[in-house]
Amino acid sequence: MRESVTAHIALGANLGDPVVSVLKAMDDIAAIDGITPLKRSSLYRSAPLASSGPDYINAVVEVSTRLSAPALLSALQQIEQQAGRERPYPNAPRTLDLDLLIYGNASIDSTALVVPHPRMLERAFVLLPLFEIAPQCVAAAQLQAVQSQAIARIG
Ligand code: ADP
Ligand code: MG
Repeated sequence: MRESVTAHIALGANLGDPVVSVLKAMDDIAAIDGITPLKRSSLYRSAPLASSGPDYINAVVEVSTRLSAPALLSALQQIEQQAGRERPYPNAPRTLDLDLLIYGNASIDSTALVVPHPRMLERAFVLLPLFEIAPQCVAAAQLQAVQSQAIARIG
C-alpha cells in the first residue's frame, strides 16, 4: 500500500455563508476515505485579491493521506462541487475553493495539477494560516513579502 504523505490544503470562500462553508469543508475533507486530519488553522478574513465581491474567509488544513495527489485533488473538487462551486470566469467569487498547496516534498507540473501551488507565495491568506499550523513550510522573508495585504485572524 502507498505510504502516507503529509499534505496542506487551502480553503477559501466568499459567497453564501463563508464561515459555515469553510468549517463544513474542513469536516468534509476529514471524512474523505484515505485521509487522516492532522491540524486546522484558525479562520482568517481577507479582502479579495485579484477577485471581487465580499471578503473571503480562509484557512489551511494539514492532513496525512494515502491518496495520490491527483486522487486527492479530485476528492477536493468533488467537495467544491457539492458546495455549489461555479466557475463563470477566472477568479470569480466562489462558494468554496480548495487548493492543494503542498503534497509531501513532491514537485508536480501537469495540466491539471501544479504542486507546490504556484501562487501560494503571493498570498497572505495562504501563508498566514499555513505558517500557523506548519511554520517550517514558510520562511520569514515570504511572510514579510505579503505583509501589506489586509488580513485578520478571526479565531
Ligand atoms: P483558482 O483556485 O486558481 O482560483 P480554480 O479553483 O478554478 O482556480 O482551479 C482551476 C484549476 O486549477 C483546476 O481545474 C485544477 O485542475 C487546477 N489546479 C492546478 N494546480 C492545482 C492545485 N495545486 N490545487 C488546486 N487546483 C489546481
Ligand atoms: Mg482552486
